[in-house]
Amino acid sequence: MTPLDASWLAEHPLPPPGTDLDKNSRGHVVVAGGSEAVPGALRLTGEAALRAGAGKLQFATAERLALPLGMLVPEAAVFALPANPAGELDAAAGDALCGYLMRCDTLVLGPGMGPDAAAEAILEAVLARPRATLSLVLDAAMIGAATDLAAQIHAHEGRIVLTPHPGEMMRLMGCDETRIADDPAGLAQEAARRFNATVLFKGTETWIACPREGLLRYPGGGPGLATSGSGDVLAGVIGGLMARGAVPRLAAAWGVWLHGEAGRRLAERIGPLGFLARELPAEIPRLLATIR
Ligand code: AMP
Ligand code: MG
Repeated sequence: MTPLDASWLAEHPLPPPGTDLDKNSRGHVVVAGGSEAVPGALRLTGEAALRAGAGKLQFATAERLALPLGMLVPEAAVFALPANPAGELDAAAGDALCGYLMRCDTLVLGPGMGPDAAAEAILEAVLARPRATLSLVLDAAMIGAATDLAAQIHAHEGRIVLTPHPGEMMRLMGCDETRIADDPAGLAQEAARRFNATVLFKGTETWIACPREGLLRYPGGGPGLATSGSGDVLAGVIGGLMARGAVPRLAAAWGVWLHGEAGRRLAERIGPLGFLARELPAEIPRLLATIR
């Protein structure tokens, strides 16, 4: 096990940004998910992707949310996806989303989706796409959807990051709280092997496991990060870094560190508890500048 700290990051730098300053050289991120019950989650994820340096942001969300979300984040383009009467993405959203992924480098899928969304059907459609170069971050409801799609995820040859918190990990691996408490590192490694993916097991401390590379441990950015929307921001940072060209494990490691250190900075300025998830992304550009 290796500690994830500033010296690890210095030895594992992010790919340098394109020198031509064209936004296309820093990647297209599509952030997909949301529901009428949690309409603002995608804003957190999308802004975090831009703050991490992604060149271009597009949202794909439930049809009645697309316009308001686009007004809230004027930097983004929006795609409307079919939803059920309760405002959750339905099964037809999978094919509709695939139609919007032509120029996408990285898809962050899952934030803000509720239990009644057709998560598994949507994920199955995305994983069945022929495009070989798409990278994916699967978060929130998509972790549960991944449980029965291990073979399809495996086939994506390590281009997928899964970001379970303990409750999501129990569902993903079919285990109980005791296993999580006793051996979180072993569980993260087992999940990484089963899905052939980078598994970022979130909690007070965070483990980053990869099938063929060493385990990383981040000690945590402080209890203030245990707040609504915090994980949505983390998923966006990782997606933004992958769109800039970082491979999944590198993006996961940098993302966890940036998210945690952003929490530390806010804790110092505002107080240890009570800062908002939406305040995290603005810390990231300065943090990125300090470490490089
Ligand atoms: P989520 O549960 O998806 O919103 O993600 C919560 C985020 O906050 C993850 O990055 C966790 O690692 C982090 N987090 C949650 N609780 C704590 C804690 N007590 N101390 C430090 N980080 C935490
Ligand atoms: Mg979450």
